Amino acid sequence: MGEARLAPLAENNAIICGVRRACPVCGGTAADTLFDNRIAPTAGYDFSTPIVRCKSCDSAYASCTLQAEDLNRYYTSLSKYDSFSKNNDISGLDRERAQLAATFLAPIVNSVSSALDVGCSTGVLLNDLREAGVREVHGIDPAVNASSTAKALFDVAVSQAQAETYDGYGHFDLVCLMAVLEHLLDPGRLLRDIGRQLRPGARLLIEVPDAGAFDRPGDGRPMEAFGEFSNEHINFLSITDVRRLALMAGLEVERWQTWRIAGGAPGMFVLLRRAVAVAGAGAELPSTASGSSFSRLSSGESLQNYLTRSRSGMEDIERRLAAVCRGRVLVYGAGNHTGRLLMQSPTLARADVLAVLDRNQHLHGSRVGACSILPPAALNDFPPVPVIISTFNARREIHSSLRAVSAQPLVLLYD
Ligand SMILES: [Zn+2]
Repeated sequence: MGEARLAPLAENNAIICGVRRACPVCGGTAADTLFDNRIAPTAGYDFSTPIVRCKSCDSAYASCTLQAEDLNRYYTSLSKYDSFSKNNDISGLDRERAQLAATFLAPIVNSVSSALDVGCSTGVLLNDLREAGVREVHGIDPAVNASSTAKALFDVAVSQAQAETYDGYGHFDLVCLMAVLEHLLDPGRLLRDIGRQLRPGARLLIEVPDAGAFDRPGDGRPMEAFGEFSNEHINFLSITDVRRLALMAGLEVERWQTWRIAGGAPGMFVLLRRAVAVAGAGAELPSTASGSSFSRLSSGESLQNYLTRSRSGMEDIERRLAAVCRGRVLVYGAGNHTGRLLMQSPTLARADVLAVLDRNQHLHGSRVGACSILPPAALNDFPPVPVIISTFNARREIHSSLRAVSAQPLVLLYD
């Protein structure tokens, strides 16, 4: 297995997940382990952690994390989004997700004249909101170059800031937390901070992976085995978990909906507002907007099914890798997918990986596992060996872009 090969790196002082966590939803400390999420260190960060389920409230989470300052440094220095130089660099998935959010917000957008997107990356959502009629749009993001990227791509104003220390939430009619809560050490604290600052009548949009639907990518489409357990996601929230966190922040669910897009994992939009009087925990959860029938209210059953399907998916990938890993190979993608395969695929761990190619310039010159990360342009410097496309969401885009510039044999692991 991969451990032997990767052992030297751990001794090289990779920053590891050394902080034990209590349940981010209820604070409970008793939990059952669901899955040992081992990921090869990338650029010196080792995110390996057990994924556990709280015995008190049933929410699932990563039970070990990096220190807060290491996490901040990781997000500040290694973000893939702020190296985008042109509109086409934004993935189809990110575009579609932003459009779905704008559609979900359509019933209230007329009452919104100012919007803040927290962790806005390229500014794609703010651009969509502005096109939907929101006059004032602003973003915050911890990544160093997010501001210049968003300015160049969409002419949107973005400040470099951490969500947890930002104090301007009260200036906006709508605050968007897209793909934020699943990353935070203490998601409840951010919600309480925002809840305190949110002005009367203002709303908070939350978007997170829907842990109540992890096992239902839908329609027999392929699913990325263990893909929900990425290095960056440490909270796995169902609507019940989001609602519990919201109530503790004085917020209530106005509307919610699960969404899924072709080739992507299921996500969930939740629109929150200040809780009216003492509605509190006794109030009914609003029924879902249409399209949410495949979500469950809590994540227990979903996670069990998801793990079963993921194990079977890994066996399929292992067979595909065994067919091509007979000598030297190249790998495209330095993200979680590769980090996971290097630890969990005996075949890839044994293979002679010449290099890993990735377009995130912050990673060039560093390593994933024992493999060097190089820019995609290096592809044609290598002899003709199989190039394993090790990513799920962007696999087709990458396949066609590589096809256009290289005659190297390309290997897809899905479809
Ligand atoms: Zn709990």
